[in-house]
Amino acid sequence: MRIRCNRCGKTATIQSSTQISDEFKQLYCCCTNPQCGHTFVMDLAFSHTLSPSAVDIPPEALERIRGASRGELREMFQVLQGGMQGAG
Ligand SMILES: [Zn+2]
Repeated sequence: MRIRCNRCGKTATIQSSTQISDEFKQLYCCCTNPQCGHTFVMDLAFSHTLSPSAVDIPPEALERIRGASRGELREMFQVLQGGMQGAG
């Protein structure tokens, strides 16, 4: 990941980091420009999910999906689509 110094605009390197939580990390940065020498902290935060993680699917649901026939999967998908249309 490329970090830019906010004082001089040159590249800064990440010297160390602290994981504050699963979704938040602080990066300790040092500017590579010797005429600047700015050291600073950048925050790195989780924003939002684009595609859900497989670990968020309950194990019993995964079991059902794995054991389902093609027709059953189509039925489940239609139920999900119906739920989404109902919410809109
Ligand atoms: Zn700098």
